[in-house]
Amino acid sequence: ITEKIASLGEDEPFFSLEFFPPKTESGMRNLYARLGRMSLLGPLFVTVTWGAGGTTSEKTTDLAVTCQKDLGLTTCLHLTCTNTPVSVIDDALKKAKESGIKNILALRGDPARDSSASHGAGDFKYAVDLVRYIRKEYGDYFCIGVAGYPEGHADGSFEELQQNIKKDLPYLVEKITAGADFIITQLFFEVEKFIEYDSLVRSQAELKDIPIIPGLLPINGYNIFQRASKLSHASIPKAILDKFPDEIQNDDDAVKDIGVDVLVEMIDKIYERTDNRVKGIHFYTLNLEKSIAQIVNKSKYLSKVVAKKELELSNDEADSSD
Ligand code: FAD
Repeated sequence: ITEKIASLGEDEPFFSLEFFPPKTESGMRNLYARLGRMSLLGPLFVTVTWGAGGTTSEKTTDLAVTCQKDLGLTTCLHLTCTNTPVSVIDDALKKAKESGIKNILALRGDPARDSSASHGAGDFKYAVDLVRYIRKEYGDYFCIGVAGYPEGHADGSFEELQQNIKKDLPYLVEKITAGADFIITQLFFEVEKFIEYDSLVRSQAELKDIPIIPGLLPINGYNIFQRASKLSHASIPKAILDKFPDEIQNDDDAVKDIGVDVLVEMIDKIYERTDNRVKGIHFYTLNLEKSIAQIVNKSKYLSKVVAKKELELSNDEADSSD
């Protein structure tokens, strides 16, 4: 991933897409069809989520392997380390390497139940322990991403979160110095919070040149939007809330349409305000397709990615008909 980012030109933005493994066979089939279509938009990479504690380990690795091997997409496998047997982590890393997956998003997952080596996973208390483990076992083979939190990380309540957004910073530095290569952020709706966070991160010598990829959630329904913001402790600015008056909150189509415009505005502002420092946007797709396609086509910046991909595809077609 970092090699691909580094190879982009000065003015060449990118986006990436997160998917989760569906529970059923038919859900999986639908997702494969969607992935095929969404890959035509030109994402730089895709990521596949991992159920905390390894609960989706098989489905996650299967989906990631399909993305990498069958769909030819640069794929990043999420991996959490707490409350998980080391053997599960070893299996996932081995399968990833055998399938040509070169990127891991190293996460903590739920807080460790007890540091007294439950399930033989006692060495893993924080994400940094997983970063160290991957580097120890696999050297430089994997490009490793870690999570960042523009509004601070909270294990506790929303009220606790307000305490101090600088608390995580030394631990973020620790993850990078342990060998992580890039940062994907928690979702947010308040661009100013991200801008402040980006500046704070850049002020640390060890983090100055590390790619930060802001994570955004398309607004596909009013209730999901509210729930996701609560779960991830992301505040919603009044200016955004005001765009969803009571009378449209139950009208999913209207919410989605406004949601697309909100996201486009956020994306364009991120690019403008960070002066080309931020190269790409990560979308928490929730496996949904339509709003992503609309957002990337409408954004002044991301539409360049789609246009480039269309050109590549038409050149390929011309070559094959020669
Ligand atoms: P860490 O970096 O370990 O930080 C956790 C907390 O511990 C922070 O509050 C930090 O300040 C503190 N801390 C860190 N190191 C130390 C230390 N040495 N001493 C004291 N305190 C310390 N969860 C899933 O289950 N599956 C997924 O697929 C998944 N994907 C995600 C993708 C992204 C982009 C993000 C942002 C989150 C994702 N999560 C996922 C959620 C994540 O697992 C949780 O947010 C988790 O609570 C923290 O993970 P972390 O990797 O940020 O932990």
